[in-house]
Amino acid sequence: MARTRETGHPYEYVTYPPKGQTCGMCRKPIRTDKICRRGDIERASGSPVVVYWHTDCVARAGGAK
Ligand SMILES: [Zn+2]
Repeated sequence: MARTRETGHPYEYVTYPPKGQTCGMCRKPIRTDKICRRGDIERASGSPVVVYWHTDCVARAGGAK
């Protein structure tokens, strides 16, 4: 089981992505054999949307301080 990290987002954790996912930051495909960040984005007008990011992209954005 992936370990939850302190990111400030309660629904975010580290995991392996399903096939065909693209990073929510750089828009590039995410390899299924590399761990990534998974987050559920809550939208005011609908159900939560699952988004995946490269761990490197999250780190660059300051999420892994
Ligand atoms: Zn990325």
